[in-house]
Amino acid sequence: MNGRLNTAEGHELAKKALDLMADLSVPPTPQNYSIFTAYSSDSLPELCEVLQTQLDDVGSVDAAFLEELYDRFFTFKRIQDVVLSTGGAMSRELGAVVKTLEAAERDTAAYGEALAGASGQLDKATDAQTFKKMVEGLVAATARMQRRSRELEKRLQETSSEVDQLRTNLEKVREEAMTDALTGVANRKRFDEALRRARRGAEMRSVPFSLILCDIDHFKRFNDTWGHQTGDQIIRFVAACLSRFSKEHHVVARYGGEEFGIVLPNAKLEEAKQIAERVRVTVESKRLLRKSTNEDLGHITVSLGCSEYTTGESIEQLIERCDVNLYKSKQEGRNRTTADDPKAASKAAAA
Ligand code: GH3
Ligand code: MG
Ligand code: MG
Repeated sequence: MNGRLNTAEGHELAKKALDLMADLSVPPTPQNYSIFTAYSSDSLPELCEVLQTQLDDVGSVDAAFLEELYDRFFTFKRIQDVVLSTGGAMSRELGAVVKTLEAAERDTAAYGEALAGASGQLDKATDAQTFKKMVEGLVAATARMQRRSRELEKRLQETSSEVDQLRTNLEKVREEAMTDALTGVANRKRFDEALRRARRGAEMRSVPFSLILCDIDHFKRFNDTWGHQTGDQIIRFVAACLSRFSKEHHVVARYGGEEFGIVLPNAKLEEAKQIAERVRVTVESKRLLRKSTNEDLGHITVSLGCSEYTTGESIEQLIERCDVNLYKSKQEGRNRTTADDPKAASKAAAA
């Protein structure tokens, strides 16, 4: 199950999961939602047991516990399954190649013996009949060798394409493990990875790097009015807007329920601000229709924060600064972009 259900029973389960999450003050992220729908629907017995034990013993769950649970039962398990089956297939392939090579080696030895035997008999052969037999024997042995080496070549070719296929499967699953299933943009894991990589690049090559954080305005109200599935439609729409205005080397991610980030390597604050504004204006200007019924959903808006990395600061500090900017956008009325204040930044640098 991927955490989204379609039937009436599904709605009931989703509600149960969300109620439980609210009771436990669990943030409604897609990951947590997957965990609690699995728990409510009893679909992963081992997960249910671990979570039940935690609830019985401790009575609450924290972010670290939930993250570990998600990795174990959703991300890690899936990768583990593929790695195990890939490993099995790989060793079967290699076993078959080794067998073919052993057979080829036996044939080579037999061929050598046939040649040695023939050369030993050469001087004893006196009549044409014996010669003819010897030559026929050598021709047959040579034909066997040729056949065997053709087989070996074919086998090796098959193995190499099989191995390519297995490698592609592994890459695909790695990609999946880094992708948000609802929107197709990067997930939290890739977001963190992209931030670390951009920071390393900025430190090593003294190039700038910026961050945009984006949060949908009054999304809870929207969800309550139109339902979770229509809410999901909006989340997809915002993700598409963010992707549309970012460049190929930027990493657009959904790092929370209705929260997004864009990591912009090699970008100064001005570029981040421009992209953020384009996203904001596009989201605001689009009149939305409910997919299932074509009802007019009106407009939605987003608030954004932009920050440029300052040499020496940690990823956490950068996110914190950007989050403060986003919060300011919310405070000042939403549907706006707030970027670092250059005066405050230069004051901080001078201090
Ligand atoms: P604000 O303008 O201050 O951001 O208000 P808000 O209502 O958007 O903010 P809040 O963080 O309180 O609410 C976020 C809501 O997002 C809560 C939850 O109902 C919803 N949500 C979280 N994850 C998902 C999801 O995967 N799908 C849907 N449809 N809704 C989600
Ligand atoms: Mg939010
Ligand atoms: Mg919001």
